[in-house]
Amino acid sequence: MSSLFPALTGGRTDRLALRFGDRSLTYGDLAAASGTLAARIGGAGRVAVWATPTLETAVAVVAALEAGIAAVPLNPKSGEKELGHILSDSAPSLVLAAPGDELPAPLGDLDRRDVDVRATGSRPDEHAGEADPALIVYTSGTTGPPKGAVLPRRAITATLDALADAWQWTGEDVLVHGLPLFHVHGLVLGTLGPLRRGGSVRHLGRFSTEGVTRELNDGATMLFGVPTMYHRIAQALPDDPELAKALGRARLLVSGSAALPVHDHERIAAATGRRVIERYGMTETLMNTSVRADGEPRAGTVGVPLPGVELRLVEEDGAPITSYDGETVGEIQVRGTNLFTEYLNRPDATATAFTADGWFRTGDMAVRDPDGYVRIVGRKATDLIKSGGYKIGAGEIENALLEHPGVREAAVTGEPDADLGERIVAWIVPTDPQSPPGADELADHVARRLAPHKRPRVVHYLDTLPRNDMGKIMKRALNG
Ligand code: ATP
Ligand code: MG
Repeated sequence: MSSLFPALTGGRTDRLALRFGDRSLTYGDLAAASGTLAARIGGAGRVAVWATPTLETAVAVVAALEAGIAAVPLNPKSGEKELGHILSDSAPSLVLAAPGDELPAPLGDLDRRDVDVRATGSRPDEHAGEADPALIVYTSGTTGPPKGAVLPRRAITATLDALADAWQWTGEDVLVHGLPLFHVHGLVLGTLGPLRRGGSVRHLGRFSTEGVTRELNDGATMLFGVPTMYHRIAQALPDDPELAKALGRARLLVSGSAALPVHDHERIAAATGRRVIERYGMTETLMNTSVRADGEPRAGTVGVPLPGVELRLVEEDGAPITSYDGETVGEIQVRGTNLFTEYLNRPDATATAFTADGWFRTGDMAVRDPDGYVRIVGRKATDLIKSGGYKIGAGEIENALLEHPGVREAAVTGEPDADLGERIVAWIVPTDPQSPPGADELADHVARRLAPHKRPRVVHYLDTLPRNDMGKIMKRALNG
C-alpha cells in the first residue's frame, strides 16, 4: 500500500518537518526516528501514546502508523479515573512516552518504550491495509464519557486529501500549531496533515498571541485554532497592531472544534482584513465540511461538504430535507470514506449511530443556505430548546448576547417550564463583574436582534464558563 507520508522517503529530506519550541526534526530525521521506533514496536497489538505537545508524540504516532499498529493518544491532563477507563477499554500492549516523562498510576503496569527522536535506524516494510485501524481517538467528552472512535487508515488519507483540495494546502505551507495532540484537531489535522503534504509544523507549546505574531512574521502561512484562541486574538487586536499585521499576512486562518462566535469572526475581519474560515468535523468522522479557500467566507457557517463526503439534513421523522431555505432545521447525517468504523467495545452505540443505509447520525443540527452552505445551530441533545412551540437553537442567542458590550462569554441552555415546555436560560460572564448588564436589558437586546420568543427568561452570572481542554463549553455542567 502507499505510505501515508510520501515526504518521509521523498527528495526533500532537509526540509523542516516538525518544530516544538527550540527542538526540530527534518523529514530525514523524522524518517530515521520513526522508522527506528516502528521496528522496535513491531508485533505490538496496539500502542498507547502519552500525548504531550512534543516531538516525541509526533514521532510515536508516525512510527505506529508506519508499523501498521493502531495508536491510542492519551490526554496527559486526564484524571486517573478517565485514564483508567481508557486503558481498560483500549487495552494497549505498550505505552510510548518521552524519556523522563513520569506516567501516573494507571499506566504503571504497562510495558513502556521511550521515544528517541535522534535515533537513526531503518524503516520496516509497511503491511497495513486501508481498512485497518490506524488510530483510536477518544471523543472530547462534552456530552458524556469519552467514547473510543476506531479510525481506519483510509479515513485519515481521505480527510487530509479532501482538505488539501478545499484549502489548496501544499508542501509549501507552514502551520502555526497551538493545540493539544490527543484529539483529531491537533493530531490528525495539525500534525499528520502537514506531514502528509510535506510541509512544516511549528508548535507553540502553549498558545499565545505573541507566538502567533512571531511565527506568522517568520514565514508561517496557516493557523489552526479553536474558538477560544480566536477569542483571545479578537480581544488582543485593538491593542496589538503587530498581531493585526501578522494575521493579515497569513494565507489561511482556520477555526474548528466548536462554533466560532460571529462577534469574534467580525472583530478579527475588521482589524486584519482576513476572514477566519470554519470547518466542521468530529472524532468519528474527521472533517465533513469547510469553507473553501477559493470560496466565499461567510460568518457563522461551516461551509460546504468536502470532496468525498455525502451530507444531508434529516427531519425528526427521518425525512431528508430537499430544499435549502436557510431555515428548516435538521440533523446532519454523513457518509463517506472519512468515517470511523466503530466505537470500541460499544456495539450498541455503534449500531444506533448509523441508519440502515449507512448514514452516520452526527447529533448536530443545522440549516443550509440556498447555495448549500451549512450553518450549525447546535447539538440535538443540549442546544435545541423547545419553547412555546418553537425549536430555538442556542447558538444564535449566544451570538446575539456576545454582541452586547457587557458580555464577555455566553452560553444558552433550556430548562423545564410549566407554560412554555422549556424556557431559555442564559449563562453570562460579564465584561465588568462590578456592573454586569441586567437580565431585562439582555433579554431586550436579544429580542431586538432576533425575535421576542428568543429572549432569555433567566440569566445567571458566572466568573467563567465550564470548558473542557478543547475550550468547549460543558453544558451538562451548567445544567447541574
Ligand atoms: P462527546 O462526543 O464525547 O460528547 P464532542 O462531541 O465534543 O464530545 P468531538 O468529536 O471532539 O467530541 O467534537 C465533535 C463536535 O464538535 C461536533 O459534533 C460538533 O458538535 C462540534 N463542532 C466541531 N466543529 C464545529 C464547528 N466548526 N462549529 C460548530 N460545532 C463544531
Ligand atoms: Mg460527539
